[in-house]
Amino acid sequence: MTIDGLLRPAPIDALEARILISHALQCSRVQLVTRSQDVLSADDLNKINVLFDRRKNGEPIAYITGEREFFGLTFHVTPDVLIPRPETELLVELAAKYLPENGSALDLGTGSGAVAIALANLRHDATISATDISAAALQVAQKNAAAHGLSINFLQSDWTASVSGMFDLIVSNPPYIEAGDPHLSQGDLRFEPISALTDHSTGLTAISAIISGAPLHLASGGWLLLEHGYDQANAVCNLLRQSGWESVQSWPDLAGIARVSGGCLNKN
Ligand code: GLN
Repeated sequence: MTIDGLLRPAPIDALEARILISHALQCSRVQLVTRSQDVLSADDLNKINVLFDRRKNGEPIAYITGEREFFGLTFHVTPDVLIPRPETELLVELAAKYLPENGSALDLGTGSGAVAIALANLRHDATISATDISAAALQVAQKNAAAHGLSINFLQSDWTASVSGMFDLIVSNPPYIEAGDPHLSQGDLRFEPISALTDHSTGLTAISAIISGAPLHLASGGWLLLEHGYDQANAVCNLLRQSGWESVQSWPDLAGIARVSGGCLNKN
């Protein structure tokens, strides 16, 4: 069997098949084209079929290959962490914009470390800290920070519970999907850590906990930026206003959906 033979017709999505074959053969997708008529060894064919079967079973491509690109960087991912989403790049862009020069930022619930690491990569002047309640997630994040040669202060914490010190900016992409949302039992989400996706309640529990805990660790004039669900902007903005945050607003993602909301803390 040749690579071409395997792909015509591919038993799964053609692009995904190419990604998995490249992964199994440890070669680039361009090399796949040049090697398209090579006859595969029984061993390689077996490896590829195992990967195809995992994908057919619904396992996300990112968990099978162990990596996902986010903000131009490659992140190692395991089932202990959420797979970074393109819409979360908005959170990084806003964090880079609202973090003052030489400022300190805190990322709550960092998972793979994607937000903290992409921010550190954009803002070499900044000091970045990141938490997660999951020790396994922190190991993945630490590995990613080291792979990109970036220094981040990692801390195991239930939101701000074990955090000490003050920051100029706080960001988070917390679990915000409401309990019972049908998306939780569809597609890639079935394989992701459930506690990174949902609060098992209204979808606003983690966001509320962060809004309540943030003022103790945010310098006056500092911003809190939160990613949330497609229909939660009003609810999140109301929670921020009720807690006295100023300049409360939402920002749209590339699909035009209000995806991040935030406010500024005025302690005077
Ligand atoms: N954006 C993710 C999704 O809808 C959810 C991520 C999260 O809960 N923080 O699949």
